[in-house]
Amino acid sequence: MAGHIPEDKITEIRQAVDIVDVIAESVLLKKSGKNFSGLCPFHSEKTPSFTVSPDKQIFHCFGCGAGGNVFSFVMKRDGVGFADAVRNLAARAGVAIPERPLSSRAVRQSSEQSTLFELNRLAADYFRQTLLHQSAGKPALDYLARRGLTRQSIEQFELGYAPKGWDHLLGYMARKKFSAGVLEKAGLVIPRRGGGGHYDRFRDRIIFPIHDEVARVVGFGGRVMDDSTPKYLNSPETLVYTKRRVLYGLNRAKDACRSAGSVFIVEGYLDLIALHQHGIPHAVATLGTALTAEQIRLLTRYAGRMVLVYDSDEAGIRSARRCIDLFWKEHVDFRRDDVFREERADTRILVLPEGHDPDSFLNAQGVDAFRRLAQSAPGVITFVMNQAVLHHGLSTEGKIRVVAELQPYLAAINDTVARALYVKQLAERIRLEESVILDRLKTHAAPMTAPGPGVPVSGASVSQPVAADERFEQRIIAMMLQFPEILPEIVKNGITDFFLYAHLKSAGETILRHRLRSPDQLPELLARIEEGTLKQTLVALAMSDENWTRKGCRAFLRRFVESRQKQVDGRSMQAAIEAAEREHNEAEVMRLLSEKQKLAVRREKQKMSALREK
Ligand SMILES: [Zn+2]
Repeated sequence: MAGHIPEDKITEIRQAVDIVDVIAESVLLKKSGKNFSGLCPFHSEKTPSFTVSPDKQIFHCFGCGAGGNVFSFVMKRDGVGFADAVRNLAARAGVAIPERPLSSRAVRQSSEQSTLFELNRLAADYFRQTLLHQSAGKPALDYLARRGLTRQSIEQFELGYAPKGWDHLLGYMARKKFSAGVLEKAGLVIPRRGGGGHYDRFRDRIIFPIHDEVARVVGFGGRVMDDSTPKYLNSPETLVYTKRRVLYGLNRAKDACRSAGSVFIVEGYLDLIALHQHGIPHAVATLGTALTAEQIRLLTRYAGRMVLVYDSDEAGIRSARRCIDLFWKEHVDFRRDDVFREERADTRILVLPEGHDPDSFLNAQGVDAFRRLAQSAPGVITFVMNQAVLHHGLSTEGKIRVVAELQPYLAAINDTVARALYVKQLAERIRLEESVILDRLKTHAAPMTAPGPGVPVSGASVSQPVAADERFEQRIIAMMLQFPEILPEIVKNGITDFFLYAHLKSAGETILRHRLRSPDQLPELLARIEEGTLKQTLVALAMSDENWTRKGCRAFLRRFVESRQKQVDGRSMQAAIEAAEREHNEAEVMRLLSEKQKLAVRREKQKMSALREK
C-alpha cells in the first residue's frame, strides 16, 4: 500500500512523529487519564468522544468510529491519499524520501502549479520593488503612510504597487522568459479583445499578495488610491487559487490563533493590517465574500472562538446578516446533524459603533476597548434577535414579525436545552409568554434547512447499539490486541472460527497473521493495514484499556465458546436444517449438517482443553 515509498522510510517517519503533536494542531486536546480527548474533527459533537492514545499512537472517535494511526489522521484531515500523507509527515519530521514517479498528467499539473507559484512569487517581488524602490511607487507609499500603515506592516505583508500603464509586468516577465499565456493562467494579464495580445490586469493599484496557509503566493488584490472603481480588484481563480479555501492573512495568523484560542474575521486587507498593527495578530480577512464551509473548517483547526467583525454602517449589518445565513447553511452541510454550533465554535458578531471601521475604532478607542467589545459581542442568535427587535420594534405587530424572523433559526436548533434557553431569552426580550413562541415553533416546525439524519462518517461506528453476540466478539479482539500473550491459546482453540461477524472475524485473523507479540507492536501492525473499516475496527478495539490476566482471558474465552455452542445446539440450527429440508434444498441441508458436525467436534476439543487447564 505504500506504493513507491520504501517501507523503512514509513517506519522512520512513524517513529519520528508523535500523533498527539500532529492532532493537536487541528484539535484542542485535553489530557484525560493516559489518553487525550477532544471534539471530533470528523463529525459534529458537543462532548468529546475523540480520543488519542500516545502509547498506542492511534486515535479513535467513539462517536463516528473514525480512527487509525497518524497517517490515517492526515489522510482524513487533508482529504489526501496515503502517499501524500506520508510526504506531508516526512517533511515535518525532516525525513527525506525519494521522489515518486508521477503520472504524466500529474506531472503536468504539478509542474504547472509550481510554475504559477513561481510566477506569483516573482510578480509579488516585482510589485514590492516598485513600491519601495521606484519613483513610480512614491505616491502609493505616501498613500499607505496617510492610511496609517507602518513601514513594518508594508514589509511584513509584502505590499506592492502595480504601476500605471498596460504592459509593465508583461514586459518584466517577458524578460524572465515567461510567456503571456502562462501569465494569463496566473490571472496576471488579460487577453485583449479581438486577440491582439495581452495587457496587465493590475494597473495603478496598491497590491496585496494573497498567501495560502503555507505562505505561497496564490493571488493578488489590488486597491485604487482614489475614488475610481472598482475599489478592489482581485485575481481570478487559478490552478493555485480557490477563493473559497483561502483566508487572507491566515499564514501569518495561525500560530497566534492557536495560542489565543480565538480568531477575528474582518472584511478587508486594510482592516486586517490595522488589527495586526494594534497588536491583534489572531485575525484573518474574508476579502468581501461571505465565509464558506471550507474557510470555517480551516479556522476551526486553529481556534474555538470566531468573532466576525463588521463596520457599523448599514452595509456592514446587511453583510453580517448575509454571512450568518450562509454560515448557518454551510454548517448544516458539513456538520449535518448539528445545525446549532454556537457553543461549539462559539461564533460572535461584533458590529463596531456608528461611523467606525476597525482601524478608526482602534485609533480612537484603543485595543482594550476593542477587546471589551469582542468579549460582549453577541452570539449568532442573540445578534439576529437584537437586529429584529431594532428593525421591527415592540408593537404587537412588531413582536409578531420578530418571532417570525427568529422562528427558522430557533427551529433549526437541535439541542433542546439550547433552544429552550433561546426561547426564554426571546420571550423576555419582547415580553411575550414563552408558550406563545413555543406554539408558533410547533405549528411551523419545518426548519429552514432540513438537516440529514446523523449519518456516521465512516461505516465502522461502534457507538450504535451492539448485539450481545457482537459485543462478545469485540471484547475478544480487544483482548487479542491488548494482551497478545493470549494469542497462542486463541489459535489452539480455534476461537475465531466461532465468530459470527465477518468484520470481527477478519480483524481476528489479521491479528493472528501479523503475529502480534506485545502491545508495543500495535503501531507497526496498524501501519501495515490499509485504510478502511478493518483498520478502524482494530483501532476502536485497541483504544480501551482493560487489565487482562491470563486467567481472566481463559475464563472469558470459555464463556464465549460455551455460549456459542448453546446457540448452535439451540433451535436456530435445527430450525434452519428443517427449513432447508422443507424446501428440498439438499445442498443447504448438507452444508448445515456439516457445520453442526464441525462445531460438535470443536466443542469436544474445547471441553477437553478446558478440563486440562483445571
Ligand atoms: Zn467522530
